[in-house]
This record gives sequence, C-alpha cells and structure tokens, in this order.
Amino acid sequence: MRYRLIYAFCFIVHAFYAILFTCVGVTELMSFNIGSSVMYLTGLIAVRNNRLTILWISLLAGEIMSHTALCSIYIGDDFRFYLFSLAIIPVVYFMMFLDPAIKRPLIFASILSFINVVAMIGSMDISVCMKPVYVFPVKFSAAISRFNLIVAVLILIFFSVIFIGKISFDLKVLKERNDNLDRLANYDQLTGLRNRNHIREIFELYIKSTDPYCVILGDIDDFKHVNDTFGHSAGDEVLRTVSAIISKTVGDKGVVCRWGGEEILILIKGTTDDGISVNEDILMKIRNATIISGKYKIKVTMTFGLCDYGDAMNIEKLISLADKRLYIGKKNGKNQIVTHS
Ligand code: GH3
Ligand code: MG
Ligand code: MG
Repeated sequence: MRYRLIYAFCFIVHAFYAILFTCVGVTELMSFNIGSSVMYLTGLIAVRNNRLTILWISLLAGEIMSHTALCSIYIGDDFRFYLFSLAIIPVVYFMMFLDPAIKRPLIFASILSFINVVAMIGSMDISVCMKPVYVFPVKFSAAISRFNLIVAVLILIFFSVIFIGKISFDLKVLKERNDNLDRLANYDQLTGLRNRNHIREIFELYIKSTDPYCVILGDIDDFKHVNDTFGHSAGDEVLRTVSAIISKTVGDKGVVCRWGGEEILILIKGTTDDGISVNEDILMKIRNATIISGKYKIKVTMTFGLCDYGDAMNIEKLISLADKRLYIGKKNGKNQIVTHS
C-alpha cells in the first residue's frame, strides 16, 4: 500500500510535468517526464509491499536525481527542482526502515542519500557554470518553484504521517504481544488465576515486608468423583467457578493462585483472625454455590489448611505446613478449615 501511494503520487506529479513541458516546448524534459510517468505507472501495477524494496526505492531516488540534474541543465535552478532531491532523503530512510526484509537499512539509505546529495550539488554547480538551454520569464519560474516547494513539503508531511502511523501501530501490536506473553507466563489459562511462578515472586514480597500475612492452601473435595460423574469439562467448569468465587472474596485483601490441579493457594494480608474470616467466607460461599455445567447442577466443598507468617520464615516451610493442615482436614471429614496441627 505504501509503495502504491508513492508511485501513484509520483505518477501524477510527473504526468503533470510532462504536460507542462509539452506546453512550454521543452522536449527533453517532456520526454523524460513521459518516461518517468510510464515507469511509475508500471511500478504502480507491479509493486508489492516488502518485496524488492531496495530496487523500487533506488529507482525512485535515481529518477528524482536525474530529473533534478536534467532540469538544472535545461531550465536552470530557479525552479527549485532540487527540493525533490532533498525531500526524498527522509522518504528513503523511512521506507528502508519500515521493511523488515532489509538487513542494513541505515547503510542502504545512507548510500542512496549520499549519491543523491552529490548529484544534487553537482547539478547546482552545472547550473551555476552554464547557461540553461531554455530561458523562461521570472513569473513562470516563480510559479513553478512555488508549486515545487508545496509538493516537496507535502511529501515530507505525508511520509512523516505514514511513518508515525506505522510506528504507533507496531508499538500497539508489540504491547498486545507483551501483555499476552505476560498473561501466558504469569496466569493460569483455565482459571485466570496467577500461576505458581508468579505467586512465588509475590510471596517473596510478603516475606520481606514486616506486615502480618496468612497462607491458605485449599483443595476441592472429591474432585476426581466430579470428573468421573459429570465429565472432564464439567470438572473444568467447577474449577473456573470455584476460582472466581475465591478471587472475588479475597479481592484486594490478598492474592490467589492455582497451585496445581484442584489446589488453590491464597495469601492474605493481615493477622490469623483476618485470614480465618476470609477463609470462612470462602468456605461458606463454595458450600452454598450450585455450579451449572450443561444439564448438570454440581455442588462441591473445599478443605483448607491455614498458617501464618509467625509459623515459619520461608516459603517452602509455610506451604508445607499449610499442606499438612489441609491433609489433617481431609482426614477429619473434609469441608473445613484447619488452623492447627
Ligand atoms: P480429595 O478430596 O482427597 O482431594 O480427593 P480428590 O478426588 O479431589 O483428589 P484426587 O487427587 O484423587 O483427584 C484430583 C483430580 O483432579 C484428578 C485430576 O484428574 C483432576 N484434575 C486436575 N486438574 C484438573 C483440571 O484442570 N481439570 C479437570 N477437569 N480435572 C483436573
Ligand atoms: Mg481434591
Ligand atoms: Mg489435590
């Protein structure tokens, strides 16, 4: 699309000059502009984005350089055709940088720009040293030089807009990909809860801080039976619903993570009493919930093991203590919270 726009733009401008030079009788520039128009029209049909960029951009820069030089020789510098040689420089850099297939865009763009500047200075020198072949009234050259100035400025504005648009679009895509990667790396796909890796980082912060906190490890009771009776996808639905209930109940009082299978680890900011209060709320809500999966209405319960920051000072020990208490709860009939062992 970008290339088509450039080629269409160049075709229109050169077709205009071809007509203009025909009208004022500068046959050499008329022929050159007809040739350029044919080249741009061919390019407009043949060009594809991100293919042969170097060739298309070199053709474009080469054509503009030659046009500037020929104009200097035949009609002189007063028409400011050299402005196009200047305006093409950022365009060359933009186009090269926007094409991921070009390995060294800076080098290619710099070489083209260097040749361009040398040709531009050379053609200026020519027009200083020799009289133009065709001489026009000042009014005519003033009108054309103004037109050229406007077109050159339009080229610069147009490409800056395209370039900024492309860069902002790429940044947006990059951000979306980053967010996606972050989600995949830190969150569990099924439940949307944090995963083990993520909670460990947060756990470190809890341990480092001087504020009290509790660790709760919960496990859905007889979950295998749920899967066996209602099917695996019903089991998934139970996991999703239970996770949502826990997440909502904990809110900003702590963090929730899927520890593995049907086990959920919760960190609560606060004392043991705060932890027990949140945990009882969760226990009741899950006990009272009816989970709908297709035609099934499923009831589940959970067992929890709770310990607090004073019980141990490292992650492994705290989790292992919570697990030990959870196991006691399972042995004592499930559907309960165990806070002592
Ligand atoms: P207990 O009350 O002692 O915890 O018994 P249980 O049946 O819940 O425990 P068990 O360890 O025997 O079974 C856990 C089951 O959880 C087995 C496994 O297939 C199932 N499970 C683990 N992850 C998933 C999951 O992501 N989706 C579903 N549907 N099932 C899962
Ligand atoms: Mg279980
Ligand atoms: Mg389990």
